[in-house]
Amino acid sequence: METLPYDPARLAQRAAEIVANTRELSALGWTPATSSNFSMRLDDRHAAITVSGRDKGRLTEADIMVVDFAGQPVATAHRPSAETLLHTQLYARYPDIGCVLHTHSRTQTVSSRLFAGQGHVRLEGYELLKAFAGNQTHEMAIDVPVLPNT
Ligand SMILES: [Zn+2]
Repeated sequence: METLPYDPARLAQRAAEIVANTRELSALGWTPATSSNFSMRLDDRHAAITVSGRDKGRLTEADIMVVDFAGQPVATAHRPSAETLLHTQLYARYPDIGCVLHTHSRTQTVSSRLFAGQGHVRLEGYELLKAFAGNQTHEMAIDVPVLPNT
């Protein structure tokens, strides 16, 4: 039997979490067609990520694969999302990041088009700003960068 370079039990657990979260986000309409991609850190070298080209509202655990932090498939013939390196670069650079949920909601799509010229979307005075770690007040602003799609 082949020895896998990651823990298959951990993959099964992470895959179940990704499927549950993805169905919830898809039900909100945030993953139109086969857009969006989702991943979770497996260990300090691997991540579980959605297979390319799947309808995120109909995912099963078989639609989750393993990649290394260079974005290469590990022990699978599946092809990962075209945006895999966005995920794996975050895991490689920030050890405290445990998952990446990349959606295509109408709000973020329209906002990014609307604010592309100024280079950021300013969130200011919203009660929900308190959701950011270490922030105690809504009386502040956060600029979310808008980057070109390359
Ligand atoms: Zn995308």
